Amino acid sequence: MSDHACGSCSGQDCKGQSEEEQALQRNLARIKNKVVVLSGKGGVGKSTVSTNLAQALAMAGMKTGLLDVDVHGPSIPRLLSLSGERPRVDADHLEPVNAGPNLWVMSLGFLLPSNRDAVIWRGPVKMGMIKQFLRDVTWGDLDFLVVDCPPGTGDEPLSVLQLLGPEAKAVIVTTPQGVAIDDVRRSISFCADVGNQVLGVVENMSGHICSKCGQVDDIFGSGGGEALAVEMGVPFLGRIPLDPEVVRSGDEGFAFLRVHHDGPTAQAMNKIVKPILALAGTLQEKKPQPMQAAPAAPVGAAGTNGLLTVAVPVAQGVLCAHFGHCEQFALVTVNTADKTIQETKFLTPPPHEPGVLPKWLSEQGAHLILAGGMGSRAQSLFTQYGIQVLVGAPSQTPEELVKSYLEGNLITGSNICDH
Ligand code: ADP
Repeated sequence: MSDHACGSCSGQDCKGQSEEEQALQRNLARIKNKVVVLSGKGGVGKSTVSTNLAQALAMAGMKTGLLDVDVHGPSIPRLLSLSGERPRVDADHLEPVNAGPNLWVMSLGFLLPSNRDAVIWRGPVKMGMIKQFLRDVTWGDLDFLVVDCPPGTGDEPLSVLQLLGPEAKAVIVTTPQGVAIDDVRRSISFCADVGNQVLGVVENMSGHICSKCGQVDDIFGSGGGEALAVEMGVPFLGRIPLDPEVVRSGDEGFAFLRVHHDGPTAQAMNKIVKPILALAGTLQEKKPQPMQAAPAAPVGAAGTNGLLTVAVPVAQGVLCAHFGHCEQFALVTVNTADKTIQETKFLTPPPHEPGVLPKWLSEQGAHLILAGGMGSRAQSLFTQYGIQVLVGAPSQTPEELVKSYLEGNLITGSNICDH
């Protein structure tokens, strides 16, 4: 079939758009904001930043797509525990894989027979694949599409920017070291040459968080990314510390921000997300919240009937900090529409054994846990059962905690027993 379909001529010497081009434009027109994450070199945390940015936007209620076009090392499926997934193919279309409320993912990794298979493709084939991901994936109406590009300023980032057009905006990830900074200089010039705005530079692995005391030490230096941003006249979005919990969350297959809501790393990441979220014009509408307040009940967390079941570990009627050894769990069911408590049940958990509680609480219908403290491994297990975890909640009655949570003024402190 000819792909000529401008509709106004016989096709000869026509400057109109081909059918494929029109399909691409139709698909892209439904995506309000396109953010391309670039880095001058590999290993600086580009995929980590892309994943957490997409997760944060999704948790803020934005319909978000995450597209991994790193044809040589597609890592997004592994970072989000989606490695075995296969997208549904329907006629000429590919359905993105759902990765939780408001988040859809597409990656070449889903289409490879195994994650050990490398792809050795020549330039035009790679370009064709990227085009297909933008044209044939049924993204639908999105607030944001975050594109994780391969490193460097080669064919793939160029294709992505050219296909998305001048309205796509770039986030450039670097580390504080000089060699990475030089590569970033090239990335910024590259965006200027192609005509895409640079939203800003992120300095990742900037300072080290001590896993024992939580203090930030500048062992690899910091500030290079910021100095470069100033020199090149682009915004500096912020620095993310080198944090062992970021590695752990990646290894365990969940976005760091999905379970960590406070602490220096989460705060640093959220600061970077803020101006990007503002592109959707939502910040003005959002109620200002105290510094460490937990987010208000995410719509996607409740069941389809609008009821949200919150589990709170209790001892003597108030939240118990020792999560795995609490006397009972309160299960508070609330109607998220009018914020009324429908029911509170107190249940005795099965005897303590690793891995038992996530399954049991999921069977009890819990959507969210408000806890004093919990290790990140346990948090990731709950996440795998689709239960959101909020740590650092104070010792109050379950009803008081749930009410504050629903009002958006629950103040969470640090993770009380993080082991
Ligand atoms: P890239 O996409 O640039 O190749 P990745 O996002 O895959 O980089 O990150 C490379 C490695 O660095 C991963 O193991 C990741 O967990 C780790 N990493 C990324 N950012 C941080 C950070 N802020 N603290 C600690 N480790 C990090």
